[in-house]
Amino acid sequence: MSDLRDLYQEVILDHNKRPRNFGVLTPADHHVDGHNPLCGDRLTVYLRLEGDRIADVSFVGTGCAISKASASMMTDSVKGRTVAEADALFTSFHDMITAPPDAAAAAAATLGKLAVFSGVSEYPTRVKCATLAWHTLQAALHASADTVSTESGD
Ligand code: ZN
Repeated sequence: MSDLRDLYQEVILDHNKRPRNFGVLTPADHHVDGHNPLCGDRLTVYLRLEGDRIADVSFVGTGCAISKASASMMTDSVKGRTVAEADALFTSFHDMITAPPDAAAAAAATLGKLAVFSGVSEYPTRVKCATLAWHTLQAALHASADTVSTESGD
């Protein structure tokens, strides 16, 4: 298990050091700011849709390694997907981190490399770091808010 943890940590550190899809996207249909005041993570997610497909997605921001790696891997995972597929990924990711162990394990099994974040569930203060990018994406996809804070509405 410790080898697996090391591997997970390596993936997260790699995405933190070399975040994918990092930068302002122009043109973008939507951009939403996300903020996790508990940790100080701030990011902006940019989105360009073609029909109901995510043609391109990017992010900028500053924060802890987990929030940045999660944003990097989130953008990698949803690019080219439909809105419905991205919604389903969000639900599974959220379940993996917040659901009871059996449901969390079932969700993790569907998530491929995103399962590296499953260990975050053991650290409640880190859950919001890992889910910030996903909540921000949701707001951008559904144009439901211009800003998202982990400390409002949940
Ligand atoms: Zn954080």
